[in-house]
Amino acid sequence: MRIGYGWDSHEFRAGIPLEIGGVHLPHNKGLAGHSDGDVLLHALTDALLGAIAAGDIGTYFPPSDPKWKGADSVSFVEEAMRQVRQAGYAVCNVDSTLILAVPKIGPHAGKIQERVAELLKVAPGAVGVKAKTPEGMGTDNAAIAHVVVLLVKEERERPRQRSAVEAVPQPEMDRVVNDLMKEVPQESKPGGRTRR
Ligand code: MG
Repeated sequence: MRIGYGWDSHEFRAGIPLEIGGVHLPHNKGLAGHSDGDVLLHALTDALLGAIAAGDIGTYFPPSDPKWKGADSVSFVEEAMRQVRQAGYAVCNVDSTLILAVPKIGPHAGKIQERVAELLKVAPGAVGVKAKTPEGMGTDNAAIAHVVVLLVKEERERPRQRSAVEAVPQPEMDRVVNDLMKEVPQESKPGGRTRR
């Protein structure tokens, strides 16, 4: 079992779409960033990579690379999941907390939960989505996300252990049987002659 933790924050900016957890939310501001600014998927990507000690989101998608400008953050999670699978793990469950003043997450939490579950190949019940307002933090123009994830070793089907007899190819087995028959004294063979 492995645990992973990720954190991210992005600033609200007027006139850009708001994407959280791979879901478009109706709002007059979006989250500014090199990519689509999906704060939850970035924290999730870091949690997944952190769980297998495989660096962080910047290792795979450096902001200095223009290739990732405006990128759909879903592709970040997909790459992290590829790394997780390669390391031999699968997601057990994930929990998250969003901290933002507006918009209210409650009405969209179910949709975010379903989308994240789909990306992680788990049931929606394995994805916790919680939201709080930033009381006394002075971060009303930002969205913050915390994510923890638990990974379990993936049970790969082991090849069935073959018996010693099965393990010998048939032509080889025929040769072994023939050789053994040569060893058998002639008189004990049906119709065999006595060898002196
Ligand atoms: Mg980010």
